[in-house]
Amino acid sequence: MMIQDEQPNKYKVLIVESSKTIMTMLFSNINKLSKIYPITAMNAEDCQFLLETQTAEILIAIVDFSLQGTKDGAMIDLVHSYHIPIIALTGDINTEIHQLMQQKQVLDYVSKRQLHEIEYITHLVQRFYTNRQIKVLIVDDSILVLEQLDILLTRYQYQVLKAHDGIEALLILKEHSDISLMITDYHMPNMNGNELIQKVRKKYRREDLSIIAMSLPNQKNLSTSLLKSGANDFISKQFEIEEFYCRVTQMTDMISYIRKIKETAITDELTGLHNRRYFFDVGEKLYDNAKRKHLYLAAAMFDADFFKKVNDTYGHEIGDDVLRALANSLQENLRSSDILARYGGEEFVCLLVINHKDDIKKIFEKIRKNIESLEVNAMGKIVKFTISIGVTTNLNQNLNQMLNAADQALYEAKSTGRNKVCYDQSVEEIN
Ligand code: GH3
Ligand code: MG
Ligand code: MG
Repeated sequence: MMIQDEQPNKYKVLIVESSKTIMTMLFSNINKLSKIYPITAMNAEDCQFLLETQTAEILIAIVDFSLQGTKDGAMIDLVHSYHIPIIALTGDINTEIHQLMQQKQVLDYVSKRQLHEIEYITHLVQRFYTNRQIKVLIVDDSILVLEQLDILLTRYQYQVLKAHDGIEALLILKEHSDISLMITDYHMPNMNGNELIQKVRKKYRREDLSIIAMSLPNQKNLSTSLLKSGANDFISKQFEIEEFYCRVTQMTDMISYIRKIKETAITDELTGLHNRRYFFDVGEKLYDNAKRKHLYLAAAMFDADFFKKVNDTYGHEIGDDVLRALANSLQENLRSSDILARYGGEEFVCLLVINHKDDIKKIFEKIRKNIESLEVNAMGKIVKFTISIGVTTNLNQNLNQMLNAADQALYEAKSTGRNKVCYDQSVEEIN
């Protein structure tokens, strides 16, 4: 029995399998997943011990249907009695096994004879972990159907939200902007599925929210009209469970993939801060709003001092660590409503709404001081550095001009000694 050391923030996957070859392959594949690690049992006694001592941390179990020295199915029943979701490993796959596995309510079952299935299992475990972040909204006036769908989706770890009609569904969508998938019935009082989908599509595009429409089978032309209203997919209410999971997975995968691409496009890879593109997208909105409502807005440019020297002395990699530390420190000192971004190289930019005029100098002086006293521990070396900051509150004609003014102030900070904050005339005037 291999038991790993305690690792916080990690979920355990229990593998119960007597074949050493299969165990080794499963172990090494699952071990590669982040935040998930395997614990293993090769006989009934070890399995029982792990279940008794570690149930709470076990996310999912992979269990051999015919573990050596035990009755067929006995290990599955044992793990099931601890309410742990199971992926079963079987010899052959045939109708008898299929029925048996459905009876035992396993999540999925795969044949051990097919080695490529190891990859499939690993994928399933990963999905099981990530599904916990995915919200699915189910809409049906039948409590019974809502219950059934809830059980199926929760079994796959999705976060489930329930609405009893279209009106409630629209309210829930408004409250939770991060719902990935809506599954809706057609026949409902107040608003039918078609009407609901049309209303939803006015606000959410196919790439923001997936919709699966459901209806009783054999209703002529209904599936076509639901798809035309904006559903991504259609499923009969008399679905096979495996088909249901396949369709749900396909839809949520697509949304996750699109969200990831969108996120990547606005994120700076090195520091994890937003990038310049995001800064201008969102910054323009904040800028226009400030102009309309006569709010005090400050723009600041930050630039690391003599950064070339940091690279020359410690190497580019440590230079990267220093930039990450700088980004973290800036983020910690600003509010989440402020727009902070990496402008390029060792230069950062920020746009913030000022509530009290006398705050400005305090905010930026604190940022400068924090960096001055920061000790970056990179590859066993302690690196210290400073930054110069230029600040303006002059909105000028547009955001670009405002940034130019901040850049002018930064230039002044650089040319008059560095490691300091310079403010342009506009800041001095309001203080
Ligand atoms: P100053 O005080 O005048 O700003 O001096 P400086 O050396 O910081 O300014 P300069 O613009 O001459 O050099 C910027 C340096 O920042 C050179 C460049 O290699 C480094 N740099 C820019 N981007 C990165 C990066 O992503 N990683 C690392 N490690 N260094 C970077
Ligand atoms: Mg610099
Ligand atoms: Mg520079």
